Amino acid sequence: MPEEKRTYFFANWKMYLNHEESLALAHAIANDLGDVSSATKMVLFPNALSVVDVKKAVENSPIEVGAQNVYWIGKGGCTGEISPTMYKEVGATYALIGHSERRHLFQETNHQVRQKLEAALDAGLTPVLCVGETMKERDEGQTEEVLEAQLRSAFTDVSWPKELPLIVAYEPVWAISKGRGKEDMGKHCEPEEAGRVGGLVKHFVKGLLPGVSETVFLFGGSVRPTTVAGYLREPKIQGVLVGAASTHLESWKEIVQHVI
Ligand code: PEP
Repeated sequence: MPEEKRTYFFANWKMYLNHEESLALAHAIANDLGDVSSATKMVLFPNALSVVDVKKAVENSPIEVGAQNVYWIGKGGCTGEISPTMYKEVGATYALIGHSERRHLFQETNHQVRQKLEAALDAGLTPVLCVGETMKERDEGQTEEVLEAQLRSAFTDVSWPKELPLIVAYEPVWAISKGRGKEDMGKHCEPEEAGRVGGLVKHFVKGLLPGVSETVFLFGGSVRPTTVAGYLREPKIQGVLVGAASTHLESWKEIVQHVI
């Protein structure tokens, strides 16, 4: 069945909010935005400890909950890790895979990203593959090469379940904010540039997985209430993955209300 036409709003709370703050925000979001239409897919990605209670906070709404990271083994001696099946068991439905902070702060390789993606699929989570080039790679004209390598490694010969959308989030590392304050905003990626990359990504994925009818392309990188409309106007962009601005109720509401 083809994926229903939707706009995706994904909130990556990273490690910005503690448990109490996560719950308070989840309750407030469920209260104020819990009537999102089926044309909107909203997913919250809290810290791992808060997934269970955030899920309970939004359970009477269409809002879903996801994992910021997963390990690729289901169960075993892997101190400190959490498997996709464990997230699935407590009601998570999505998983961020290969977020740039995982790739750069924790040296996650394309190979590990692939293992995580397959483990998420096996557990029945919808993976959100994050790709993006660094400032240096961009300045050296390697954007396409880097993205193609990330996509090729993640998707070559993957058996994609028909019922799951294939979602890629483009998060140019140079445009991701370093903090929650305006003063720390990363460089701005123009919507036209994000849209152009959207076209490239869709083209690469089509070549790798011809059986998948559509790639859902999200943009992430210092999206703010003032900039979201520009991205969503781009025909190749189906939604946004938002970090800092998703951790405040008012800015998240302003972002999401662009389509509600
Ligand atoms: C992110 O890292 O997922 C992200 C998009 O962060 P921010 O919106 O803060 O740039």
